[in-house]
Amino acid sequence: MLMTLSTKVDAVDQIKLSEVVDELNRWYPPALAEDWDSVGLIVGDLNAPVRRILVALDPVAEVIDEAVNWDADLVLTHHPLFLKPVHQVSTATYKGKLVHQLISAGCALMNAHTNADRAQGGVADALADVIGLTNCRPLVPAHGAPLDKFVVFVPEADTDRVHQAMAAAGAGNLGEYRDCSWRSLGTGTFTASDQADPHIGTPGLTSTVPEYRLEMVAARPLRARILAAMRQTHPYEEPAFDIIELAAFPTEQGLGKVGELVDPMTLHQFAQHVAAVLPATAQGIRVAGDLSDQVRTIAVLGGSGDSLFGAARASGADVYLTSDLRHHPASEAREIALLRGGKPYLVDTAHWASESVWLPVVAQRLRQWAGGQYDHGSQRVEVRVSQRRTDPWTAQFPSSSLPGTEEHSSNSDERQH
Ligand SMILES: [Zn+2]
Repeated sequence: MLMTLSTKVDAVDQIKLSEVVDELNRWYPPALAEDWDSVGLIVGDLNAPVRRILVALDPVAEVIDEAVNWDADLVLTHHPLFLKPVHQVSTATYKGKLVHQLISAGCALMNAHTNADRAQGGVADALADVIGLTNCRPLVPAHGAPLDKFVVFVPEADTDRVHQAMAAAGAGNLGEYRDCSWRSLGTGTFTASDQADPHIGTPGLTSTVPEYRLEMVAARPLRARILAAMRQTHPYEEPAFDIIELAAFPTEQGLGKVGELVDPMTLHQFAQHVAAVLPATAQGIRVAGDLSDQVRTIAVLGGSGDSLFGAARASGADVYLTSDLRHHPASEAREIALLRGGKPYLVDTAHWASESVWLPVVAQRLRQWAGGQYDHGSQRVEVRVSQRRTDPWTAQFPSSSLPGTEEHSSNSDERQH
């Protein structure tokens, strides 16, 4: 009996998985994810309590083992477990085994991938912060949600009513402001036919009516609802209105970041700096460029970045720091850069290193959020960053000699390349 009572009291105090999922979706909106991506809750009972969260980059066996051994209720990863359609989760597959292991242990699995790449406070911000960049802007800005502008011509006396109906249907919301509108007074004219039933005027005679031009913006998915609300409250049989699709504009969210180092340094010094501030990996740092040249403006993109060479060039960056650069795209990018004086130089890090810098950031954010959920502070959600290094590469053997580059391992910046 005492056990039951204690469980009930705890249940009131505990955060539910659904609350954690909702909060993470607010921080990293799934709508920001790429079309090809898979983000969100992969395994989990939304009503289950969450007391321990393990944060990791990859949902691999050693991470799931760590979570289960620690008695975690949720594993939050960056990379998805499944990216292609799945038709079986039996233990005959290694991913199926992980699903069974998680469910048996009552542990949920969720991921935030390209939505966390684009969102503020996500991977790009974490990487820029670790590198020490200031004045950051997105490398490829995400566009805001599509908006319509409604322009409706309403007789003066009915304008408030139409405005209120459209606002109730969702028009006029701008950030933290609602009921936003613009009104200007003008004159409407019309001549109703003999078949018409005009609200104002007489069939066959031209009417001149003082009307407001009422303008309100609205999220495009609400178009039908707002139109219906406007028609219902507008006094005219045939209201005059325009619906204008507004141009999309860039936001502060987006892929990657471009920012400046506080003090310029040589490419050699920058590569050493990156090697020092990123988590250690077998790969270390690879560089393409003139090590003695000064660099200051840096473009960064966590994870595989060889699809964004064009954006890196267009940003005016001296260096493009990313991961997984392959021979052909990198070679071509260098050829193009050399036609323009050599920049941007390339700095290539291990994929795991450039993205895992986000893990402590999201862990701390979860701790702060969860800490604020309890009035008396007696219950806590523990959040831990996985100690497992899920970089698949475990060793690297530098070539014994690379002609013309012997001094790179020394401290000399002087040599021209
Ligand atoms: Zn990645």
